[in-house]
Amino acid sequence: MTLNIVLLGPPGVGKGTYAGLLSKKYSIPNISVGDLFRNAIKNETPLGKRIKSIVSSGELVPDDIVIELVKDRLNEPDCKNGFLLDGYPRTVPQAEAMMTFKKVDIALNFVAPDEEIMSRIGGRRTCSKCAAIYHVKNIPPKVEGVCDKCKGELIQRSDEKPDVIKNRLEVYRQKTKPVADYLRTKGLVADIDANYPIAEVDTIIAQVAKYLDKLV
Ligand code: AMP
Repeated sequence: MTLNIVLLGPPGVGKGTYAGLLSKKYSIPNISVGDLFRNAIKNETPLGKRIKSIVSSGELVPDDIVIELVKDRLNEPDCKNGFLLDGYPRTVPQAEAMMTFKKVDIALNFVAPDEEIMSRIGGRRTCSKCAAIYHVKNIPPKVEGVCDKCKGELIQRSDEKPDVIKNRLEVYRQKTKPVADYLRTKGLVADIDANYPIAEVDTIIAQVAKYLDKLV
């Protein structure tokens, strides 16, 4: 029995937060492709140098690079019983490739209105050390600008500035929305209403559990 889960939905809908909670609840690793890229950039690896300007502009990294990276990561032993994949597939060719190298059990498609998304991403702050996520209004840290968990500095990611957010939402509409349509034709999509304040995150997780508990 596996629990191979992909998370769909626009940037800022909260996939990272839900993935963290679900990863604990179902004891499966949480793999964020965005984090893999950001680490590569931070560590100035050859991959990081190649993709730095693409990621900071909110454009998508070319499919061949992403497909190779994700395929290798999902073949690591910790993914044997399942995984939560956040940020892939983001194009139809990535989804088609995935069908050839990994079985997908379910695609959770998180949905919320555009205005809500803009406010969620615009207020988001990320720990520069441990990548924990906060929000200036919805999930404030105890001390402004400082991570509760590791005392690292909280920063606004360069791709979370207003102009870049707009571009990311446009890229999402054009390239990533069709992924949900494609996976729907395979009967894999579960739509999850994510238009709840963070204090009600349990409501969102409960909707997900309804689907996942049938699979385990
Ligand atoms: P995220 O944190 O998931 O929003 O990802 C941050 C950035 O990493 C995106 O804006 C893209 O530049 C890049 N990225 C992440 N996942 C993918 C993917 N599946 N395909 C192409 N680019 C990606």
